Amino acid sequence: MTQPSFETHEVFNQSPPFEDVNLLKADRPLMDAVRANGGADAEQELIAFGALWGSADMAEQGRLANENTPKLRSFDAKGFRRDVVEFHPAYHQMMARSIEAGLHNSTWTAQGKPAGGSSEVVRAAKFYIASQVESGHLCPITMTRASVAALASQPELLARTMPVIGTRNYDPAFAPWWGKRGMTLGMGMTEKQGGTDVRANMTTAERTSDGYRITGHKWFMSAPMCDAFLVLAQAEGGLTCFFLPRFAPDGSVNALRFQRLKDKLGNRSNASSEVEFAGAYAERVGDEGRGISTIIQMVQLTRQDCAISSAGLMRSGLAHALHHARHRSVFQKHLADQPLMQSVLADMALHVEATVALVMRLCRAFDRALGDPSEAAYMRLLTPAIKYWVCKGAPPFLYEAMECLGGNGYVEDGILARHFRESPVNAIWEGSGNVMCLDVLRALSREAEAATAVLKILAEETRGLPGAADAVASVSQAFRRGDSERVARLAVEKLALLAAVAALNAVTPAHAELFAATRLANVHPSMYGAVDLDPAAIRALLERALP
Ligand SMILES: Cc1cc2nc3c(=O)[nH]c(=O)nc-3n(C[C@H](O)[C@H](O)[C@H](O)COP(=O)(O)OP(=O)(O)OC[C@H]3O[C@@H](n4cnc5c(N)ncnc54)[C@H](O)[C@@H]3O)c2cc1C
Repeated sequence: MTQPSFETHEVFNQSPPFEDVNLLKADRPLMDAVRANGGADAEQELIAFGALWGSADMAEQGRLANENTPKLRSFDAKGFRRDVVEFHPAYHQMMARSIEAGLHNSTWTAQGKPAGGSSEVVRAAKFYIASQVESGHLCPITMTRASVAALASQPELLARTMPVIGTRNYDPAFAPWWGKRGMTLGMGMTEKQGGTDVRANMTTAERTSDGYRITGHKWFMSAPMCDAFLVLAQAEGGLTCFFLPRFAPDGSVNALRFQRLKDKLGNRSNASSEVEFAGAYAERVGDEGRGISTIIQMVQLTRQDCAISSAGLMRSGLAHALHHARHRSVFQKHLADQPLMQSVLADMALHVEATVALVMRLCRAFDRALGDPSEAAYMRLLTPAIKYWVCKGAPPFLYEAMECLGGNGYVEDGILARHFRESPVNAIWEGSGNVMCLDVLRALSREAEAATAVLKILAEETRGLPGAADAVASVSQAFRRGDSERVARLAVEKLALLAAVAALNAVTPAHAELFAATRLANVHPSMYGAVDLDPAAIRALLERALP
């Protein structure tokens, strides 16, 4: 349909919307990384997913879900408490689509055991694609999926909840979880006086004849319309993990009092609440005093998803930038043909290609960890390192992607402004940057032998690549230092880069060489494009990034 023209001018030289694109087929680095990490069999399923999520309709639903933010309804018209959050239908649409694709449960069997095979890699590819369209709803999706790992500490509770978590139905009804067609779970750890330091939690748990009563608050508790939350509270035996449902077993509404929803920089389709528990009913998950070790099983998985989702945001930034540059002419030449813009785009493409190879390699470790100790060691050491490097790299990347679109990039009509506002959160929640670096050090000190073996394998996998040997030596040295905490960022970034080179080498060796030359042998400049790539490499990178 032709659009009515303006009276004063014709509209031309604007790029068409980047919509109705198959987000899998248009992404060779993703397809190759999935194949290299065991997911080849799922290609048809992923192509269908990429077509749906790349549609103009899904893009529109994503926009609507973010422009029409959730609203807290604390009371009804007569002053009775309601404590419910209302979402725009577009948000529910996103939830339904993600749940029908199993993003919340496909890595588990019906009994809540790891599904194995390539389920992590395949789900990660979907998560990567979904985050390119709408990130906010992925918060309850990732928490639901991850909660199963913590529920495993209480097998009879897992057995009761798994039949409801295990369905592919989205059921947003405000009703007791046990009667629903499907359920979602959230997590409450952070209190006002301490988030990282959960030992400082003041919320208490009192044992009663039918379970526990939780009294206290959480300063951040996202996705408050979840059917239940895993929360930490101080019980007699110490900090303990609890399953706190929205409805008590007698069917009454449980005593969760939402105080406010946060007014956030990004992540706006998702609600993040401040909440009080006024003697709320809860069941114990794991032993008393084992709260941190119980919930850390969940957090390990949400950290993995933070990295996947930040990688997806960067991919989307790159794809929009490249698409625009191929349509926009400046000085009689497409932007994509201007040598300086080519350097910027190719350097960004290289970054994303290494990032997607790295997160898929990590997911393969999650797939194989149960039966393979070296994969388990890779997963333990590299999850925090990869979360750190990938998530913290997303905001500057998206800023550059926005700039490729010029002024349009900065305007909320397009998706890049939203992606940019979204991008810092993955680095902050589920363990902020420094906390991730300290976690790498913890893995090194507690499981020194396994961690050293991982480094040895990375050294073998990157042998001969520019800067790799020096990087291995400097990482080992830094971690052995008595004051390793002081230089942890230096060492963890290098470790992640080394792992990225190794992962990319298994997918596209020529690009692994380039990535190593520009990131390991030399410190990468603070701006994308400030590198000297030859024209053939630029062509190859950009062709792979978007056909
Ligand atoms: C949008 C959003 C949604 C959220 N949703 C949830 C939720 O659903 N459930 C939930 O439980 N929490 C949630 N959080 C909270 C989030 O997990 C915490 O904000 C985060 O863990 C950091 O805790 P904090 O804010 O208390 O900061 P602090 O713990 O005070 O940390 C401040 C800074 O100090 C650094 N730091 C901490 N310890 C050290 C150290 N030993 N050495 C050096 N540096 C250190 C950290 O890296 C950080 O940069 C959410 C946060 C946001 C922004």
